[in-house]
Amino acid sequence: MGYIEAAEAVIYGRRVENVRIPFSRDEYYDLLIIPGFSDGHAHPQVVDAGLEPGVVWRDSYEWIEGRRLRVDEASLRADLGLSSRLAMLTFKRAILEGTTLIAVTGRLEANIRGWLSLSSRPRTVFLPTVMRRRGWATTETIAGIASRYSKYLNDVMARIGVFVHSIRYGGDMIRGALELARDLESVVGIHISEGVREMDLLDEYIGPPPYPSRIVGVHCLEDEDPQAHGIACISCPYSNMLLYRRTRPTINGVSGFGSDWPLLVGTIGGHINVVVDAFNVDPFVVLRKATIGGYLTYGMRHGGDMAAYDGGIEDLLGGGLRPRLVTVGGKPVVVEGRIASTGEDLDEVLRGIREALREAVEAHPLARPVY
Ligand SMILES: [Zn+2]
Repeated sequence: MGYIEAAEAVIYGRRVENVRIPFSRDEYYDLLIIPGFSDGHAHPQVVDAGLEPGVVWRDSYEWIEGRRLRVDEASLRADLGLSSRLAMLTFKRAILEGTTLIAVTGRLEANIRGWLSLSSRPRTVFLPTVMRRRGWATTETIAGIASRYSKYLNDVMARIGVFVHSIRYGGDMIRGALELARDLESVVGIHISEGVREMDLLDEYIGPPPYPSRIVGVHCLEDEDPQAHGIACISCPYSNMLLYRRTRPTINGVSGFGSDWPLLVGTIGGHINVVVDAFNVDPFVVLRKATIGGYLTYGMRHGGDMAAYDGGIEDLLGGGLRPRLVTVGGKPVVVEGRIASTGEDLDEVLRGIREALREAVEAHPLARPVY
């Protein structure tokens, strides 16, 4: 038995100097982040965001209907092998970036398979997307897959909930999703107010709280108060800035942050500098929400979750600092900057991601742009 000692630490968003915590051996770091970063919203199967230079969208619906993708997303999701590999790469990138908890939407079976294929992995909330569109699941199919895989998952490390795509593409599915999430003792996620005010509309679908299960709204870009509507809010500043050149105008009401496109922009631990820069507040307010905030939002445990760095907080907030050690539930998943079970470092995983993205576009091309 030994100790990890560090010159400074950020514990639940508070800065503490000269920290010493029990560990299997003696080690020294400049900085500890406890718990590690939480990424409250990630689509592992997004390989192309349809970004075009100079194009700024007004809202998510305009983006979804108007974007020109190079990849057929429905065909890609149907490719279980490649979709699972994209999920696996997302989890690898997450831990190498100090992200110890991640909430993933998209295809449930692929995300679970990708997660199970790794022994070094983050805590994960699986929020499979339900939507009334070609190639998407319904709450019934999610319930079936969840019961088939539940024996492989324990709720300390992983949970399954439901993600309703949005009010417009699944508003009528919210009630059923809340009941399924209640049965799974989990949460319902939903893209909400991503450029249009939708909180009052949500009230029309579900009435006033309390709800059968917790609702986590994602984006909440408009200046509405999520708490007044009984929901939590995960803000995604990076993708918001790329699509809309703006993000939520205030950090008030935000409970955590999401990356949206982990394979394209990295996870929250990898771009915490972008998140801090997006809000004009004390960086430690952002750090609290970016770490313990996501855990509290999803009701996940955090004991033994940590990222340790050579370099101080200023270096971390300057961008590009990678953790040397990452633990999840006390187990080292990244050691000396490499994944404990595979030995890969972030550069190798990023190469694997670039290769997989290329394969996805080649194997599932969109014959003609969708308008
Ligand atoms: Zn999303």
